[in-house]
This record gives sequence, structure tokens and C-alpha cells, in this order.
Amino acid sequence: MNKTTFEFKAEIKQLLNILVHSLYTNKEIFLRELISNASDASDKLRFNQIKGMEIENSNLELEIKISADKKKNILRIRDFGIGMTVDEIIENIGTIAKSGTGEFLKILSESKENVSNLIGKFGVGFYSVFMVAEKVIVKSKSYKIGEKAVIWESDGLGSYTLSEMEDNFERGTEVEIFLKEEEKDFTEDYRLENIIKTHSNFISFPIKLGEKQINTVSALWREPKSSIKKEQYDEFFKSFTYDSEPPMEVIHTSVDAPIQFTSLLFIPKKNFDFFGYNRDNYGLDLYVRRVLIQHQNKELLPEYLSFVKGIVESEDIPLNISRETLQQNIIFNKISSSVTTTVLSHLMKMAKDRAEEYEVFWKEHGRVFTLGYGDYANQEKWLDLYRFNSSFNENEKQLTSFERYVARMKEGQKEIYYIFGQSREAVETAAQTEIFKKKGIEIIYLFDPLDEFAINSVRKYKEFEIKSVDQADLSKLEKFTDEKLDDKKTEELSKDEKLQLSSLFEKMKEILGDKVTAVKESKRLSDSPVVLLNPDDSISATMQKIMQISQNDKSIPKRIMEVNPDHILVRNLLKVYKANNNDPYISDVTNQLYQGALLLEGYLHDPHQLVKNINKMLEKSSSWYTQINSL
Ligand code: ADP
Ligand code: MG
Repeated sequence: MNKTTFEFKAEIKQLLNILVHSLYTNKEIFLRELISNASDASDKLRFNQIKGMEIENSNLELEIKISADKKKNILRIRDFGIGMTVDEIIENIGTIAKSGTGEFLKILSESKENVSNLIGKFGVGFYSVFMVAEKVIVKSKSYKIGEKAVIWESDGLGSYTLSEMEDNFERGTEVEIFLKEEEKDFTEDYRLENIIKTHSNFISFPIKLGEKQINTVSALWREPKSSIKKEQYDEFFKSFTYDSEPPMEVIHTSVDAPIQFTSLLFIPKKNFDFFGYNRDNYGLDLYVRRVLIQHQNKELLPEYLSFVKGIVESEDIPLNISRETLQQNIIFNKISSSVTTTVLSHLMKMAKDRAEEYEVFWKEHGRVFTLGYGDYANQEKWLDLYRFNSSFNENEKQLTSFERYVARMKEGQKEIYYIFGQSREAVETAAQTEIFKKKGIEIIYLFDPLDEFAINSVRKYKEFEIKSVDQADLSKLEKFTDEKLDDKKTEELSKDEKLQLSSLFEKMKEILGDKVTAVKESKRLSDSPVVLLNPDDSISATMQKIMQISQNDKSIPKRIMEVNPDHILVRNLLKVYKANNNDPYISDVTNQLYQGALLLEGYLHDPHQLVKNINKMLEKSSSWYTQINSL
């Protein structure tokens, strides 16, 4: 094979362009990325070794060698890991853009986050070398018997070349960096030593600068808890996750019976949005007797705990187990449920003893945690850990829990009520909540569709059913005395008037026609004249709306219009109706009430008619106003 030139894919070109031309601080992290790749390659080699595979140059020591040539301004990173074949080089650092590349570019353009905190998380760490290099040569030889060594060379501008190597290069990879003139000090020992100590101290293979070993090579999780200082945990966490801040929580446990395992888990201070970018960057590293069996194993913890980072190691899992059969392994499953319990118990304790810190946790990771409503085995714990805003809170930033809601419940209250809406303001002023306010009953406020899904599917907290306010059985509220007195209490209606009122409702239904399924007297209103309700009570009105949005359905659903018989406006309308049941004013008002209610629900797609109506009414009322005041 002669020297062949290949083009990078467009996305990689774009990435390289940014890396080469932007002036980043913290460029030193390129070394962390290359060492991390060397360490991954060594881990993989060890894994293949214990599986008994045949390996090229099997006697080579697994270490990482760093050397610098001050005169030529070259830095070399050499490992003896699995290496790469030609095809693998093309696939891994060549032509094919990894799925993370696009996401990385997007988040880089949108967030203020420093590139050094992100690059390693998106599977594009290798390219960070072009922040400091004007040329890079990668020499690599696969562990597979009989593969030829390859040379990859690029200036990071748009293409790279590949060729076979003549001399006998031993298994593994060497990255040779031709430093930019201004990055000269990356050849200085003190500088390199410092960077390795800061970013790569916990790499589990010796990192040697010349003959000197720089890192400590200790498996922190295997050391006794009592001997570990907070700084060590922090440092370990940072080098493990590439985060710039120490973790929010450290959970270090060691279990001996019935199954032996050790886990060192962290909850980071920041969530790199599980829902947006980098969705697959989660999972725990699984070690068996010091060998990394799987990086980012996704079965040790359920997805809703994916904000947890860390390591689990066990002596009891068979070393030669394949990743495919891991999930069927009884011991693995026991460890996994035990790790889950460990995390949940830690959170329970945190919620109990350090409520404020727990709220900080919730605000960062609560959204992912909410996905756990389906973990039936742990549902009780999930419910206790779930947090939300409610009418009891003074503002939308405060949080409360089911436990506290229940403690505040009215005597005899058997149900928990919630409302979903776009904002605190929207739910606070929603007509559906008026009866609850009048009776002084707390309502849970949900602002995220995910929360409504979750709450809708758990349905119960202890013996209390959880109901949406528009699905609540109002007869259950009648027994509670009013806490808030009506200031504009209207007179009782006579029997006759009641009959006329129902015929007014019939008239209103006639006016609205097919737009509503019925017009009915309401028991839930005090301040508002009307409210629209979903006739199908299997699903709340807001949920219906969300489903419509997701299906791009713009139709206006048919609702029941409930009318407040005690509202001044309704009483006046009754007078008009009594005088002339065909007065066009009735139809103007009815249509206007309907449109106003639609507007509040976010269904009014065309405001023109509404504004036209309002103007018409204002015109009338201005005439009346001038007449009354003899202007
Ligand atoms: P990541 O390490 O997150 O996969 P990188 O951009 O750092 O992303 O590396 C890309 C890929 O290139 C690695 O997944 C690996 O397959 C390959 N690679 C990089 N460096 C080495 C190395 N020293 N030895 C073997 N393979 C390597
Ligand atoms: Mg990497």
C-alpha cells in the first residue's frame, strides 16, 4: 500500500477548523485526551488477554510513555494497547464522523461551556490535539496477529494520508505531535508532569515521562473509605468525568455478603442534559478483579439514575463473561439492584437530613429522575423522592413533596389534586382551580409534560389517589367548608329563575352549536363566568393538548362549557334573556365568553374575531357610559 490521501468528512473538517483556529484556554487537555485513549486501548488489550485471545507481542508491558524532543519541538505518546488496523484507523479517526461530532459542534456553538469540559464527553477527544499541533503522525499496530503497522498523517486542515510502515513497529500506538511554534513549552518536563498530575493522575497504567513514573496508579475505590480525603475523591472524579468542578455527592460503598462488590459513585454538580445532547454518555464502568470489563455499562443502574457516574467492581462475576451474557448473570443482576438501592437510599437520606441540598440536586437532575415513575420495584421510594411546586409554595422556585402535601391535607381529604400548565401564573389563574382555592385545598402545579405523564401513570401516593383538577369529583369537595368567602355574593335564585337559567343555557348551546358538547351549570367556579372542560375524563385537557401538538393536530377539541350561575355577568344575561330570549346581545356575549375561554387554553388560533367582538362591545359600553354619566 502506497501513501494514499483521504478527505475528512465535512463535520470533522468543521470541527478541526474550529479547533485549529480558535484561541482556547486550557489547551493542555489534549494530553489528557491522548492519555485517556492510550489507557482505553490498554484496558481493551487486558480484556482480550484475560479472554485468552491470541495477541501480537504478548510480552509487552502495558504502560504509557511520554517523550519530548525539545529541539524538533515534537511530543510523543506511546502505548502498547490494542492498536488499530488500517480499517480501524479510517473508521476511528479518519473518514467516518462519529455520532457525537454533530452534537458536539452544536453545543459548542450554543453554550458558553469551555471546549475542554466538553470535548472528551462526545467521543471526539482525539482531535483536540490539533489545538496545539501543526502536524500529527499516528503509528499503530493492531494486537491481531499478522496485521501490518500503519502510518496516519495529517495537518488537520482537510485531509490525511495513510501508508504501511516498513520497520518493525511493536503492537500499540504512538501519537507524534509536531507542536505549533507557540506551543513549545509542551516539551518541558515540568509542564508535562504538571498536566499529567492534574488530569491523568488516576489512570490505571503507569504513565512514564522518560524513566520517571508520574501518576499514582491506584484504584481509589478499593481503598478503605476512612483513609480517603475529600480532595482525593474530588480529584478522582474530575479526572474520571473531565468535569471542572468537584462532584455534588460521593457514594462509596463496599459490600461483602452475600455478594462482594465495591462501588464508587458520584453525582455531578451539573447535568449535561440527558434530554438534549450526548444522550448516550452515561453508564458505570464495570471492573472484575481489576480488569475493566465494560466502559459505561448501562444496565447497572436504571436509566433514570443515569446522572450517576462511577465505577463498580466485583470479584464474584466470572472474568471471561461476555458483555452479551452479562445481563443474564444472576450475580450481575443482584449487584445491579443493590447499586440502585444504594443510590436511592443515599438520596432518601440526603432529602431527609439535607433538604436544601436535596433541592439543589432536584433542580439539576430531577428531570431525568422523573423518568423513574415506571420502576415499580422502587416506586415508593421514587414517590418519596419526587419534588414539585404547589399552591402551598409562595413562588414557582420552591419545592415540596407528597409527604408534606399529605401532612397538610384537609381532614377527610382522600385525593391529591394537580394541575398542569405552562407557567405558575397560568395555573394560578386557571378557572378550574377556583373551587379548590375557595375550599383551601392544595394543588400540585406541574409545568413539564413529562411530570404529568409520570404523575398520571403512578396515580397513587400511599392510599391517596392523585387526580387532575378537571377530573376531580366535585361532590367530594362539598363537605369542606369555604375558607375564602365570596365578596360579591349574589342573591339566591327563585325556582322560576332557575328554570329560566337552564333554558338560557340551552339557548347558549344553540348559539355555540357544534363547538361545544354541552352548556351546563358549574359548581367549581367563583371568579370566572365560564370554564371549558374535557368531556372525556380519561385524560386531562392539557395532556390532550400536548398530544395534539405532538401530532401536529390543530383542531379545536369539543368541550363542555360550564357556566357560573352566581356571576354578575350571567345574572345580567339572564335579565336580558327574560326580557327578550332572542336578543342578539345574548349571542354576542356567549360567543365572546367561549372565545375568551379558548384563548386561555391556548386554542385560539385566530384572534381577529375575538378582537372584533371586543371592539363591538366596547363601542356599546362606551355609549352606555356616556349616557349614564350624561357626557
Ligand atoms: P473516544 O475516545 O471517546 O472514542 P477519541 O476521539 O478520543 O474518542 O478517539 C476515537 C477513537 O480512536 C477511539 O474510540 C479509538 O477507537 C481510537 N483510538 C484513539 N486513540 C487510540 C489509541 N491510542 N489506541 C487505539 N485506538 C485509539
Ligand atoms: Mg478519547
